[in-house]
Amino acid sequence: MSDTDETPAATVATLSALRETLGDDAVRVGEQIGERSMTDYTRHDPARPAALLLPRTTEQVSRALAICDAARQPVVPQGGMTGLAGGAIARATEIALSLDRLAGIEEIDPAAATMTVCAGTTLQSAQEAAQEAGFELALDLGARGSCQIGGTLATNAGGNRVIQSGTARDQVLGLEVVLANGTVLSSMNKMVKNNTGYDLKQLFIGSEGTLGVITRAVLRLHPRRAARHTALVALDSYDAAVRLLRMLTGRFGNDIGAFEIMWPDFFDFGVSLTANGRSPFSTAQPLYALVEHAGFDAGDSGERFASVLGDALDTQAIRDAIVAQTVADARALWAIRETTAEFPSQMDPINFDISVPIGDIGHFVDACRTALDQRWPGNRSYFFGHVGDSNLHVTVDGRSVPGVPHHDVYAFVYGMLAPYRGSISAEHGIGLLKREFMPISRSPEELAAMRSIKRALDPNGILNPGKVI
Ligand SMILES: Cc1cc2nc3c(=O)[nH]c(=O)nc-3n(C[C@H](O)[C@H](O)[C@H](O)COP(=O)(O)OP(=O)(O)OC[C@H]3O[C@@H](n4cnc5c(N)ncnc54)[C@H](O)[C@@H]3O)c2cc1C
Repeated sequence: MSDTDETPAATVATLSALRETLGDDAVRVGEQIGERSMTDYTRHDPARPAALLLPRTTEQVSRALAICDAARQPVVPQGGMTGLAGGAIARATEIALSLDRLAGIEEIDPAAATMTVCAGTTLQSAQEAAQEAGFELALDLGARGSCQIGGTLATNAGGNRVIQSGTARDQVLGLEVVLANGTVLSSMNKMVKNNTGYDLKQLFIGSEGTLGVITRAVLRLHPRRAARHTALVALDSYDAAVRLLRMLTGRFGNDIGAFEIMWPDFFDFGVSLTANGRSPFSTAQPLYALVEHAGFDAGDSGERFASVLGDALDTQAIRDAIVAQTVADARALWAIRETTAEFPSQMDPINFDISVPIGDIGHFVDACRTALDQRWPGNRSYFFGHVGDSNLHVTVDGRSVPGVPHHDVYAFVYGMLAPYRGSISAEHGIGLLKREFMPISRSPEELAAMRSIKRALDPNGILNPGKVI
């Protein structure tokens, strides 16, 4: 494959320098670049980048970035490409830098309870390694098999266990990052307490590849929560769900590992996509909560959890509950919630990942649904979320609003957030898709401070231009 066919001369020179430094097999162009590198899970505007770099070491990432920075060549870091904000999409004039080959667990330190891991390691491999060592990595999301540690930290991903252990940010003790000019900033700290000046790592976590390329991380490990019990609960209303959340956290503290709410639109659609296509309840319910109790005592049979739900049933705090008796039962209940992975093949999803204060989510959902129905009668919209973390997901099926540009739907729903002081991105990030809506959730002063940080760390603006800020 020749670089010269359609590639600008400046890029040809840069590619030749990159080949010399990284080796031919680490620089792909044209048809050598597969579809996976052309867009992320949003399937937004696929484009073949000018080149795909596949460095194997931090040193190679550093040298590649130094070359690109000197040439003012834009670079887009790419992880598992499961992002939901378009952050990893590279345009035809940009070079994609994949972390695929910088993978592996370097160390598990049982005394410090830490894992040192390379950025290209999939979340699932890291979870499995932690388990084998008798620990738990308190990060989990549906994309676990493909998303990478680097991408997961770069987006400060949330997921199913935030209510218990916080977001990706809360799992990081140390980070190694390569800046736009190739400088390696290695803060591979293993200590819980370390107040030596600014906590630089926090700048890069959630920066979506705009401030530096994450190459390695030291992650906290937690004791294994050996007893997991899952229940699907039917509720009268959103207020009843909040009361149940507070009652359960009051009784079990942060042994409540997940509290996922599904409104009937989502639940019915999710059920229709599961293997048996049948709801675990015999009748339709106003609202569903998927609750997980995750305790440390392997001998805990879940009796106390079931009995607390039994009491809630007796006092009519809940309408019904199905407590999983086996791991297979629990998986079947979680399968309903995780059918979101099928959305792209089942519809034309217009996804929202927003935050609204917990007490206002029920009101927001009612107002949003009514407004959507008035604006686009017949729209199909699905509401669900990690309500314990104030995170609501809304998916509008683009096929149910034919001819309406996705942008109009985004603007309409984001526009409803201002009175709630909500956030346009709870956990998926800003990427390409939400950039223009930043002023809804961030003040001019906050935006100006973000731009100053970007200029300070990437003065030539080569890292992921056009994303976030
Ligand atoms: C089925 C499914 C379920 C999901 N569930 C959740 C969920 O519950 N919670 C949640 O928060 N997200 C969720 N996501 C979104 C997504 O999985 C996460 O954002 C994910 O962790 C991104 O990781 P990735 O490696 O795929 O990153 P990519 O998609 O490759 O990249 C994401 C962003 O990070 C940047 N980036 C990637 N690697 C690096 C690096 N090494 N250094 C610097 N920047 C980098 C990219 O430039 C881009 O801006 C889900 C996605 C899917 C498909």
